[in-house]
Amino acid sequence: MPDAAAEARARLRADCTRCAGLCCVAPAFAASADFAIDKPAGHACPNLRDDDRCGIHADLRERGFPGCTVFDCFGAGQQTVQVTFAGAPHWRDSPERAAAVFAAFGVQRLLHELLWYLTEALALPAAAPLHRELAAARGRVERLTAADAGELAAVDTGLLQAEAGALLLSVSELARAGVRSRPSAGPRRRVDQRNADLVGADLRRVDLRGVGLRGALLIGADLRGADLQLTDLLGADLRGADVRGADLSGALFLTRRQVAGARGDAATSLPAGLEHPRHWGAR
Ligand code: SF4
Repeated sequence: MPDAAAEARARLRADCTRCAGLCCVAPAFAASADFAIDKPAGHACPNLRDDDRCGIHADLRERGFPGCTVFDCFGAGQQTVQVTFAGAPHWRDSPERAAAVFAAFGVQRLLHELLWYLTEALALPAAAPLHRELAAARGRVERLTAADAGELAAVDTGLLQAEAGALLLSVSELARAGVRSRPSAGPRRRVDQRNADLVGADLRRVDLRGVGLRGALLIGADLRGADLQLTDLLGADLRGADVRGADLSGALFLTRRQVAGARGDAATSLPAGLEHPRHWGAR
């Protein structure tokens, strides 16, 4: 029997062949280590071809665009193009049309990211007491993804995020409650480290199992060989974090974008539904 979580995750995977280059136009870029150029929001990247494909796709990192290899729309691009605009987004036709398409894409992206987290929560056995609530929340978000552009524009995204965030926090607490300290695992972090500033921290010998690190800044942190079993990483910034040899297989709410932004290797273990990015092997 097909795994429901696997099916849901597959639907939340970007399919650029069914999109229209939306992520290459809608967001603004600032020239940095991630992007070689400045680009205002709503303007097409000069590397975007007329067929809505990237002209430097095979060499993004070498050409100064590693940020593009990290971006993940969770499938919102193809949903916007194929469902919201019925396969004919035509964002090049006029500024008004472009504004409508990119506004819808922004809402769809948020909805799809919420779907990812709610799907992960539903796959956790420890969250069973909240499964009914989670399924209802996911159903509501799922229905919104089928809305037309006008309905999407009226979605209160802040309220949706707040409601889902509270539910996901309860799930996290339930899931992490069973983790006990292990004398051999090093000093234990405080269990709630939300939004902690751990930029560049050496966390190799810290017991992070079951720790809440949602929203934490882990940029460039050294997590080599770390065991992140039931560590809540929702929204944590893992850019440049060294996760070589780390066990992230049981980490909570990890996304492709976080994985792609970190530095891992063949020995890094990831949760179901996430694969080793191709560029890990090239580093
Ligand atoms: S470099 Fe390629 S993938 Fe990145 S925004 Fe430009 S066209 Fe898109």
